[in-house]
Amino acid sequence: MPKKLVYYFGGKKADGTAAMKPLLGGKGANLAEMVNLKLPVPPGFTITTEVCIHYYKHNRTFPKELKKQVADSLKKIEKQIGAKFGDKQNPLLVSVRSGARASMPGMMDTILNLGLNDETVPGLIAKSGNERFVYDSYRRFVQMYGDVVLDLKPQNKDERDPFEIILENKKKSRGVKMDTDLTASDLKELVAEFKAEIFNKLGKTFPEDPMEQLWGSIGAVFGSWMNERAIVYRRLNDIPESWGTAVNIQSMVFGNMGESSGTGVAFTRDPASGENIFYGEYLMNAQGEDVVAGIRTPLPISTLNEQNPVIYGQLEAVRRNLEKHYKDMMDIEFTIQDGTLYILQCRVGKRTGISAVRIAVEMVTEKLIGEREALSRIEPDQLNQLLRPVFDTKEKDEAIKQGRLLAKGLNAGPGAATGKIYFNATDCEDAAARGEKVMLVRSETSPEDIKGMNVAEGILTARGGMTSHAALVARQMGKVCVAGCGVLEMDYSARTMSVETLKGLVTLNEGDWLSIDGSTGEVIEGKIQTKDSEIIQVLLEKSLNPADSAIYAIYEKVMSWSDKFRRLKVRTNADQPDQCRNAVAFGAEGIGLCRTEHMFFGGDRIDAVREMILADNVEERKVALDKLFPFQRDDFAGIFRAMGDRHVTIRTLDPPLHEFLPHTEQDQRELAEKVGKPFMDIKNKVDSLHEFNPMMGHRGCRLGIVFPEITAMQAKAIFSAAALVKKEGVNVHPEVMIPLVGNYLELRNQVKVVRNIADQVIKDEGVAFEYSTGTMIEIPRAAITADEIAGEADFFSFGTNDLTQMTFGLSRDDAGKFLPYYISHDILPCDPFVTIDSGVATLVKMAVEKGRSVKPKLKIGICGEHGGDPQTIHFCHNAGLDYVSCSPFRLPIARLAAAQAALKDSKAAPKKKSAKSVSKTKKKTAKKKKK
Ligand code: PEP
Ligand code: MG
Repeated sequence: MPKKLVYYFGGKKADGTAAMKPLLGGKGANLAEMVNLKLPVPPGFTITTEVCIHYYKHNRTFPKELKKQVADSLKKIEKQIGAKFGDKQNPLLVSVRSGARASMPGMMDTILNLGLNDETVPGLIAKSGNERFVYDSYRRFVQMYGDVVLDLKPQNKDERDPFEIILENKKKSRGVKMDTDLTASDLKELVAEFKAEIFNKLGKTFPEDPMEQLWGSIGAVFGSWMNERAIVYRRLNDIPESWGTAVNIQSMVFGNMGESSGTGVAFTRDPASGENIFYGEYLMNAQGEDVVAGIRTPLPISTLNEQNPVIYGQLEAVRRNLEKHYKDMMDIEFTIQDGTLYILQCRVGKRTGISAVRIAVEMVTEKLIGEREALSRIEPDQLNQLLRPVFDTKEKDEAIKQGRLLAKGLNAGPGAATGKIYFNATDCEDAAARGEKVMLVRSETSPEDIKGMNVAEGILTARGGMTSHAALVARQMGKVCVAGCGVLEMDYSARTMSVETLKGLVTLNEGDWLSIDGSTGEVIEGKIQTKDSEIIQVLLEKSLNPADSAIYAIYEKVMSWSDKFRRLKVRTNADQPDQCRNAVAFGAEGIGLCRTEHMFFGGDRIDAVREMILADNVEERKVALDKLFPFQRDDFAGIFRAMGDRHVTIRTLDPPLHEFLPHTEQDQRELAEKVGKPFMDIKNKVDSLHEFNPMMGHRGCRLGIVFPEITAMQAKAIFSAAALVKKEGVNVHPEVMIPLVGNYLELRNQVKVVRNIADQVIKDEGVAFEYSTGTMIEIPRAAITADEIAGEADFFSFGTNDLTQMTFGLSRDDAGKFLPYYISHDILPCDPFVTIDSGVATLVKMAVEKGRSVKPKLKIGICGEHGGDPQTIHFCHNAGLDYVSCSPFRLPIARLAAAQAALKDSKAAPKKKSAKSVSKTKKKTAKKKKK
């Protein structure tokens, strides 16, 4: 039997289900599911993603079995609808739509009203009794087919759509404003003009044969999987090219059959704020693309309740049904054909970060889902949106008082943004590359704008509603967006935007500053300072009472659930007491990395540091180190106080010394004067410290080994500070970490220096405290010989920045020149300095195993930048690390990602209940395996 390439849906039961997304794509799988739920879905069929994969593997051709399976399914639709494809009296019309496994709104193509031609048109007129509707559908079909299948579209960013120009001219010549004001004969003329345009511009005739139309459209929709915007979207959203898209062919229902027909898009909750209200937009006498393409600004769904309470009631029932079934916020496309409601699509709705978090938390309260499920639904980076800035209220009020409020649009993507105006994606990209903050301003946002949206601080459109495709994309990207601001007039060629205000006409040019509030929809002339989010105001600034912030309450819940389920501890990379306080507010359970050298530049310290480096002998160096000692001790004491009884890992000096020296002649002369040495001595010393490859030169533990007095001073500063703060009643836990170790003897050497000093300080100060000594694993040799190194260490911390650099032989400072090329050309899947690379991960796993084979309880963490990356955090959980350490502002993300990793782990082993018992059992099994 030939393989099943086509899945039918319609009538009482569908061939597919919602679980078949990989094969049927999201749209096809959900259409099948809705049929099974007995919702009013027009019948149709899905051509599987496997056909798409075949299509690209076989030079854009289809498997031979496909023709028959399509023809058979078409017959089934005909039977169910009681109409025939291509029939002159009673024609069946279909839509052809893409539908990938992950939703890619607006990125691929759609064709509606397929099956119309000069012969079927009279039949449909007779059947519907509505000539205007038929010609309206016909002109839309020719336009879409011309654009999508025959490729008649604007050739550059300033050109307008050729069909839109003809349509615009027709409206002008008839003296009307709206498409709906055109008569049947106007539309009939448009059909002929569109066909002529296709012939004149392309030398091709519009195909009249419905089968040719169908196969042309199927090919074009599969072809749109590889169009530029789909490729960019996939790259931005980590969607593999190998998935392919499905194609859905469905019998048409018409929203443009007159005033008792319409079409709309709705969300079961507000996708921008997450509020539990029915949210959506619709247009009467319109087809789907009118709502999403932003050509006419639609009405809010609440108006439908006034216009047609029966249909509104049915829609409300569908809303309840779908939320109950899917237990998630759903996005629905519907059409009303002559008073009958049809559901054309449903999918899990895209939402802003704020909305995602709110919906997840509220669905737990409503008992729709549990805490675990809620956590797994929030993408760690969405939490970032809760931390995003808002406008400084005073400045904004002032701007409004000054009459700078230009207009109000729809609050499509929350947050505050300020930037310089650019009118197309390319100009936005260029300006952003120059380092400018940009605001993308368009009449209507279109999927072509994706690259511009990606670099913009905010997006402003004159047309289109909350559900226009690009507004959806903006929200998903977490961009601030104001849409449908109808009073704005754009002139792309003059690069201006004008608006009539109380103070008269205001015209802004490319490059002028503009501010938008994506939470209120306000558009304000000029630049306005942004201000920290409520969570920052509660946690860090303490300027807002937690009880007064609903957003903070939601954040708090997500964090407390995360803490309940995660096994990994979270620490922070911080070098100063204020950073430590922020980190503690964000949930830090310790410091994973304090880079001592970061304090060397503050105040007068740099002079002492330079004196230490320039010293000609140990005695001179000791004099300089004595000057540095009190600075370091006081810094550490501040850190210990801020961290309380949490563990604090302090790393001894790491970077090459020349980083601290003056490099210009003037600076060298000034230093010579300060230290009382001849200029030439200083210059010669600086020259002598020059290294060809400083990252692999005299740095890290190599400094402390050659100059043990440096390590000794630092250890003394750490332990004296610990003693001081311990006497103040804080139960300090210093951990001294030796960097860049590649050989256990290096670590043994440095640990000896540190421990001697510790014993001495404890004796001299007469106070005891716990301390430990360990090392970074950041050189491949350290990972390979981790068993030897573990013999000398109380703990390991993976310095994955250096480990990545040295494993790849790729300079972390120079890789920016070619890494983006590698990523865009699929030589690397992503930036290995952001998400841990598989090769580096193998080294980490090896080091964990080798280290723990010697010391089973060896404490192991990560302190490279990867420690704040959700994917890497999952890896760290699975590799059995004890903690991750990241910058203070990444901590909420790290807590959530750590919980998600633990939950995934416990899902894989369903019998084990708590996160704790899971990790214990895991270790036991690991031990058993070894035996
Ligand atoms: C590392 O190499 O990962 C690390 C944390 O150290 P640094 O970035 O200071 O070299
Ligand atoms: Mg390092």
